[in-house]
Amino acid sequence: MSVKRAVTVCAAVIAASIGVAHACENNYAKLDAEFEGARMSSCEAKKNSFTIRIDPEDKPINPSPWYAFRVTPKQPGEVKITMRYSHSKHRYRPKRSDDGARWSLIEPKKIRERRGGRKVVMRVAVDDTPVLVAAQEFLNTGAYEKWTADIAERASLETSVIGESVEGRPLVAVSSQPKTKADRKEHVLFVGRQHPPELTGAFAMLAFLETVFADTPLAEQFRNRFFITAVPLMNPDGVVHGHWRHNMNGVDLNRDWGPFTQPETQAVKAILDDVAGADNSELRLMLDFHSTNRNVFYTQFKNVDTIPPQFTQEWIASASERLDAYEFEYAERETTDLATSKNYVHRRFGAPAITYELGDQTDRRLIRASAVVFAEEMMETLLASDPALEDNARVAGQK
Ligand SMILES: [Zn+2]
Repeated sequence: MSVKRAVTVCAAVIAASIGVAHACENNYAKLDAEFEGARMSSCEAKKNSFTIRIDPEDKPINPSPWYAFRVTPKQPGEVKITMRYSHSKHRYRPKRSDDGARWSLIEPKKIRERRGGRKVVMRVAVDDTPVLVAAQEFLNTGAYEKWTADIAERASLETSVIGESVEGRPLVAVSSQPKTKADRKEHVLFVGRQHPPELTGAFAMLAFLETVFADTPLAEQFRNRFFITAVPLMNPDGVVHGHWRHNMNGVDLNRDWGPFTQPETQAVKAILDDVAGADNSELRLMLDFHSTNRNVFYTQFKNVDTIPPQFTQEWIASASERLDAYEFEYAERETTDLATSKNYVHRRFGAPAITYELGDQTDRRLIRASAVVFAEEMMETLLASDPALEDNARVAGQK
């Protein structure tokens, strides 16, 4: 019921908040943005071409210029579309899909960047069926629902609604609990999609989780020791509305770990509060999946204590030995007051807290293949750590 209500609200919000034509047409085609994940702020049809404007949901904002629209042809040929950005320059290479599931790059020779990337002219070949054009592939709320249901059934996991987004969409956690009792409860937390356009990070996260929740001896051994909580979709409203960055209150969720002013971050904080509040309960790792212009792990400095000690270096080193083709950067960062998940979790728990970033253009098969290796080596490395490690509050200085 709540899902249905949320969808109704969403249609109303789109119509009310943007208040401009969401479709335009000429004798050759119609363009529209009337679907989940769409972003086309205005649309003007000329005799032989279209001009569309792409605006962010609000500003100031990080330049992650998501766009997505549909071209419904009236006759076969090429549709010429000029895309203008008001607050960014072009970042994502245009892709096309007939069904929203299989995507391909629009040929580079059909695309021209002008005015330093503020304007992009593309020619989209069409026959007689609608074509979706977007900044990246889609992984929409329905795809997450299906993924969650499928994996929960396969791996007998628990799914729970940990809260609601600003517009009332459920925030879903997938978790598994060890069946055997141990003196110390060791937790790991994985979160994703705080930033809606960051699809490559989302692809890595799903492959990573599928490995952790797989029916393999390693994954079973891991789940026998560690409590796993994963929140793959932290910003469902942003995904539905085709946002560049923020939630429906105009907040960058990955700058809200500290203030916790938003329902989406509050829901995840409650999980951490439970870990902090339970006796003999420790957080051993937090990973937060994102995308940027390259593959990179943002980590703590090597000389900064974490519990388990040296986890990140050992994990990355053992995964690297198995990954020839996957190039990535290991970027140590000081734990600062910037209210990111990484800073908050490391400061509060002393656990390794890592931002796992994929390049926007990283090969999709390599994303999956490398995420499997990183997941396997994460499990091996954590399993090799001493379960009787000290309370990580010693490192954090608080709990
Ligand atoms: Zn991000």
